[in-house]
Amino acid sequence: MIDIGCHLSVTEGYAAMASRMLRFGGTTFAFFTRPPRGGRAKEIRPEDADSMNRIVREAGFGKLVAHGSYTMNLCGAKAETRANALDMLCQDLERMEAFPGNYYNFHPGSHVGAGTAAAIPMIADALNASLWSGMHCTVLLETMSGKGSEVGATFEELREIIDRVAFPEKVGVCLDTCHIWDAGYDIAGDPDGVLQHFDEVIGLDKLAAVHLNDSKNPCGSKKDRHEKLGEGQIGMEALRRFVTHPLLAGRPFILETPNDDEGYIREIAIVKSWEDPDR
Ligand code: FE
Ligand code: FE
Ligand code: ZN
Repeated sequence: MIDIGCHLSVTEGYAAMASRMLRFGGTTFAFFTRPPRGGRAKEIRPEDADSMNRIVREAGFGKLVAHGSYTMNLCGAKAETRANALDMLCQDLERMEAFPGNYYNFHPGSHVGAGTAAAIPMIADALNASLWSGMHCTVLLETMSGKGSEVGATFEELREIIDRVAFPEKVGVCLDTCHIWDAGYDIAGDPDGVLQHFDEVIGLDKLAAVHLNDSKNPCGSKKDRHEKLGEGQIGMEALRRFVTHPLLAGRPFILETPNDDEGYIREIAIVKSWEDPDR
């Protein structure tokens, strides 16, 4: 069984997303906890959250992977940017308690010139100011492509953040296939080597979820332009080998490919067809 799904819009509510994913044929999905480019979060009605939780449980979905806002920069240059980001993070994590047991993924941030050495403690401090021991959500740092001044384009940087967190058991990693490819990890030529490297640096027990995307650009390009499965530089066969890699069994896979509904339904069916009936 491979849990595959895509990003869905929250505009019609939470239960509506779960029903929609059932129609799409998937068994997980992602959603933005607030408008991705900024703005206020939509109120969560408890009945709506409960009915989503029920649909997801009854259908045997894998873990859901909520996504934080792109505008949330925990290591921004201005104190105000960082304070706003911490505010968003705290609110988002509180909201995640309406969907206990799922994941909340976010971009570590952009250091905008200050350098990763300065940014990493800022990100860790923000996590230490927002995580608490009784929380029911695991926070995932996303692997980044390295465009601009993004932090998190190497496994070592993510490891350094996790090392500074007071509740490391509440923190994991969401591996984005387009991003790590663009960052220079050759998952097509040497998937075993990349996963082994991840294991040595961070530990595969921390690899909680995967964003499944092809890339428009070559390995190491540091561009971050997602492509439909099989239409990019990683290619369908390499993506299939990665998704079905035994070391990644059990992780939710989230499509962030440039698609309409029909495209997602098609890609979900493709990934489902890779399931090994004997496993
Ligand atoms: Fe992302
Ligand atoms: Fe992603
Ligand atoms: Zn991306």
